[in-house]
Amino acid sequence: MNDRDRILALDRAHVWRPFTSLERHATGDDLVITGAEGAFVIDADGRRYFDATGAWWCQVLGYAHPRLVAALRAQAEVLPHVALAAATHAPAAELAAKLVEVAPKGDRRLSRVFYSDDGSTAVEVALKIAYQHAQQNAPSKGGAKRQRFLAFPGAYHGDTVGAMSVGAVDDFTSVFRPLLFRDRVRGADGTAPRTEAEWETLCARLEAHLATEGDTVCALVVEPLVQGANGMRFFGAALLRRLRDACDRAGVLLIADEVFTGFGRTGTMWACERAGVVPDLLCTAKGLSGGLLPFAATLATDAVYEGFRGGMGRAFLHGHTFTGNPLGCAVALEVLRIFEEERVLEGVARRAEVLRAGFERLSRHAGVSNARGLGMVAAIDLGRGSYLEDDRGWKVHEAAKARGVLLRPLGDVIYAVPPLNVDEGELAWFLDALDASIADVS
Ligand SMILES: *Cc1c(COP(=O)(O)O)cnc(C)c1O
Repeated sequence: MNDRDRILALDRAHVWRPFTSLERHATGDDLVITGAEGAFVIDADGRRYFDATGAWWCQVLGYAHPRLVAALRAQAEVLPHVALAAATHAPAAELAAKLVEVAPKGDRRLSRVFYSDDGSTAVEVALKIAYQHAQQNAPSKGGAKRQRFLAFPGAYHGDTVGAMSVGAVDDFTSVFRPLLFRDRVRGADGTAPRTEAEWETLCARLEAHLATEGDTVCALVVEPLVQGANGMRFFGAALLRRLRDACDRAGVLLIADEVFTGFGRTGTMWACERAGVVPDLLCTAKGLSGGLLPFAATLATDAVYEGFRGGMGRAFLHGHTFTGNPLGCAVALEVLRIFEEERVLEGVARRAEVLRAGFERLSRHAGVSNARGLGMVAAIDLGRGSYLEDDRGWKVHEAAKARGVLLRPLGDVIYAVPPLNVDEGELAWFLDALDASIADVS
């Protein structure tokens, strides 16, 4: 047995794969990845693939950026881990200060950083903070308790139970519905908007809810400007601004889930910046650690933090074994240094235009619609269909794989989220390969 077959046999015998049917796992002609660099992964046969999915959207600086690898190694030699409660360490303290410095700026200040492990936990932390904050600080007019969340149809905030509770209940999550605190969530049921008019209607509905029942709500949770898992659906900055204002009028906290959109994905450091909005709580993961290791943070304003003053009885009694892990902190610090020193965001505008134009070009193929791009996210629709049954996306996926490109369709949506610093020649090559793959299928 060669090494590829040996690894695949062990995997099939013992690994439980995410988002994969057991039948598919047993028979799929799967890649065995042995290395990665820049925008590419390399398989056991030495074939290189342009990874348009960026390992589930986290490769903001490309795979294995040498400076990130060096920062990880250096930190591992000094202090790989220590519990962050009665002790602290330089990477946690320095990163918190740096995140506060780069956080969205405006009419309030995100000044506190709570660390966790991944996007889902960053969201769980934000939900728990918002809820506890309301319970101990905001008994609203008439004594109604703010025990509800407001959320978006089509939302995705992670796969843990709390995060699922404020997300879309769909093919992936409906079996868990009885476990979710759905009775505490408003707004999230119904069809996700696609057109501008549908987004407008949704925004008006959320505003109306905040105006009439806002005093029962502790927080509105939103993926700012882009619903990622829902198929890279964009909505306008003005709507986010309006929701910020409506939250303020109702005394409701705004939770921005920037797990996907943060770290430059939409062209600015945070999507909220495009709307001139500062949330009360901001969740970041994915790009935060440059795609090297699981790591996350939830940022909070002074006002939210102060709501926990008053001894253990009012403290936020939550944490994870690896909260504030020094390796994650050190890598995230280096990500931020690279953003500064390599002027990563400055380089996005030009690449974003190339990416958007490349997707626009795909519109000439039969069955392709709705080409769109925002920063380093671009997508097209292949036509409506059920996520689990429609296989057009997967046909394009197979054609692209044969050409050395990894796509992973979101139902009928083909998208790309290349590294922000992707080599421009490689980006052009990828767009040509994608075009040819769609031609193969259509
Ligand atoms: C990926 C994602 C999450 C969940 O992050 P994990 O690290 O997979 O737990 C939450 N919110 C958004 C917007 C995401 O894209």
